[in-house]
Amino acid sequence: MKKQTEYLIIGGGIAGSLLTWHLLNAGKEALLVDHPERCSATRVAGGMINPITGKRLVLSWRMADWTRYNTQFYPALEKALGISFYSPLIIRRIFKNAAQANDWLIRQNDPAYRPFIEEHAAALPEYIHAPHGAAAIRHGAGIQSVKLLDGLYRYFGERLIRAKVDYADIHIATDHVDVAGIRCARVVFCEGWHGMYNPWFRYLPFHPSKGDALTLDGEMDLKEALAFGVFLLPQGGGYRCGSTYIWDDLTCRALPETVRFLTEQVQRFVKVPLRLTAHKAGVRPTVKHRRPFLGRHPREKRLWIFNGLGTKGLSLAPLLAESLMRYMTQDAPLDPETDIARFG
Ligand SMILES: Cc1cc2nc3c(=O)[nH]c(=O)nc-3n(C[C@H](O)[C@H](O)[C@H](O)COP(=O)(O)OP(=O)(O)OC[C@H]3O[C@@H](n4cnc5c(N)ncnc54)[C@H](O)[C@@H]3O)c2cc1C
Repeated sequence: MKKQTEYLIIGGGIAGSLLTWHLLNAGKEALLVDHPERCSATRVAGGMINPITGKRLVLSWRMADWTRYNTQFYPALEKALGISFYSPLIIRRIFKNAAQANDWLIRQNDPAYRPFIEEHAAALPEYIHAPHGAAAIRHGAGIQSVKLLDGLYRYFGERLIRAKVDYADIHIATDHVDVAGIRCARVVFCEGWHGMYNPWFRYLPFHPSKGDALTLDGEMDLKEALAFGVFLLPQGGGYRCGSTYIWDDLTCRALPETVRFLTEQVQRFVKVPLRLTAHKAGVRPTVKHRRPFLGRHPREKRLWIFNGLGTKGLSLAPLLAESLMRYMTQDAPLDPETDIARFG
């Protein structure tokens, strides 16, 4: 018997999975198709939500909005799924030089930054080398993204189909779309970096980047996350460490030289020997101009996209997934900065 649904979501990373979650919770019919052998960035992600990043310690785009939403959404999702994957924590940003310490002093007088500054942070442990000092950043978090996806997949049950969709198997009719025998009213492509090959959406300025994330182990009891160009995040009894940025190798091969690079960076600041326990690589759906791709195809009105989450999918995906769901189901307008209508 042929399957039929209102919404067919292609790609079960954080984008597609949270969109499916929001659609089902809005009482809509949705099926999610994910191909387990295409490496998902979400399953490799370091798992860090860090509001203030970069050499100049800049507050990320719309971070106050994501924070307000995520601090409610993730705990509610944990409760609904009966699992635990979200840990709010303070991030200690270790200054590399006096100029960074000075930038931080300036930020402290900026009202936009104030909610993100922790004023009562404990002293750093003695095994952290921070000769220029460190900022204490509030509203950071660690997300165990594999646990999160696995919990959602269990919840979806038979609404999750494990298969690869070939573009040649997508046939658009006037009143429906047929995707490999599944008849649906709308298709939403949430393919991560693979979206750059999508014949309907490859006109969008994708610019994917490969990254590596490690899991390390060491005799220390770090309660806060550390950031100093790369990051170290306490998670599940070990430490997640990321990430590299590689622009000329779009494979998921984890190469030994990246382990050397990341561990050398960490051991400049952490004076406890760390051992490698796992190493994975994936490709991020980074895009030019660093704003996500949400919306409807300009001509094929049954085709939609949710992509371009770049380096911050764990921060952006929950609220953006809800706003796309509202656009598709209630015609609530998208933020023009995220709407692909901006590309004409
Ligand atoms: C090393 C590394 C570290 C990172 N660290 C962080 C971090 O600390 N914090 C953070 O917020 N973000 C981080 N990111 C970025 C984050 O992972 C991404 O922003 C986010 O996961 C993108 O989610 P997505 O759902 O768009 O794509 P993906 O997670 O890649 O999911 C796309 C899914 O679509 C499936 N798919 C594609 N094509 C098809 C098809 N034709 N048929 C069926 N299925 C298909 C794939 O199998 C995949 O499961 C990191 C990324 C990497 C690589």
